[in-house]
Amino acid sequence: MQVPAPFDYARAESVEDALTLLQRHGPESRVIAGGHSLLPMMKLRLARPEWLIDINDLFELDYLVEDGDVLRVGALTRHATLLGSDLIAGKLPIVTDAERVIADPVVRNRGTIGGSLCQADPAEDLSTVCEVLRAQVVIRSLDGERVVSMEELHRGPYETAVEQDELLTEIRFPIRPRTGSAYEKVERRVGDWAVAAAGASVTLADDGTIADVAIGLTSVGLDGRTATRAEDALRNAPPSEEAFTAAAELAKQDCDPVADQRGPVDYKRHLAAELTKRVLRRAVERAR
Ligand SMILES: Cc1cc2nc3c(=O)[nH]c(=O)nc-3n(C[C@H](O)[C@H](O)[C@H](O)COP(=O)(O)OP(=O)(O)OC[C@H]3O[C@@H](n4cnc5c(N)ncnc54)[C@H](O)[C@@H]3O)c2cc1C
Repeated sequence: MQVPAPFDYARAESVEDALTLLQRHGPESRVIAGGHSLLPMMKLRLARPEWLIDINDLFELDYLVEDGDVLRVGALTRHATLLGSDLIAGKLPIVTDAERVIADPVVRNRGTIGGSLCQADPAEDLSTVCEVLRAQVVIRSLDGERVVSMEELHRGPYETAVEQDELLTEIRFPIRPRTGSAYEKVERRVGDWAVAAAGASVTLADDGTIADVAIGLTSVGLDGRTATRAEDALRNAPPSEEAFTAAAELAKQDCDPVADQRGPVDYKRHLAAELTKRVLRRAVERAR
């Protein structure tokens, strides 16, 4: 089925207006941002909202601001804006790495970071990036706002802590000194979803050892978690090829990929290990 079921449509004029509309139209109303995930689901009748609340006029949710040691990103910020930002490339290069390999320019011009995180697709690249960067997200309702971690946001595939009458409004990235980050993905063809991908963020101590590290994997069954055994093995160790290889082996063991049209389990586990090694190497180079 390639035509959505009939629906009504309202264009919100402010965050307050969007929240009022969501409350007025109740459980069958749904926010639409870039529409690149929601509309395909509606065409396939996997989603059948009776009301679409369009938030594309909410320019107040489209920003990138460095605020002390936090980089604040509005939920309506488009992939293309993130990709083109020197601030992002300088402070959070893992985001730029990921944006380079997300879909194509058509999707990147409309798709938003808020929509990506709320879709909670296990193959979604920015979710892994936000987990690795230990981002927090701001969720607003008519009653106020709350700030939650990525672990709290993502409850499972396609399921988040954002309630039907709430909006995700902001993503907050901590900026840490002596920290580098990187993302790498293997896809069957340019613009495709990941066969597997890995992201890492590494903070170096003054003596050059690894003070802190986060490793995330996409599309290989590590949903909503980072590779904690690999991280523990690296913490306080000097960065070296041997340490990266040992950590990559742990990440490979801890992921749980399924065989599908993108490849068998062995291949995906191999990619998990290889990509983990590569992003650790690059993150350490960038931290120096
Ligand atoms: C051909 C194609 C290829 C793609 N390839 C990739 C890829 O390689 N990697 C990748 O990561 N992604 C990929 N995507 C997905 C793309 O990144 C989408 O832009 C993204 O998943 C959703 O963003 P959106 O703004 O379009 O959200 P929408 O489709 O508008 O919304 C998605 C969901 O989030 C909800 N929502 C949106 N914004 C908010 C908000 N602020 N508060 C609360 N709820 C909200 C909606 O109600 C809906 O449930 C691809 C998409 C397409 C069509």
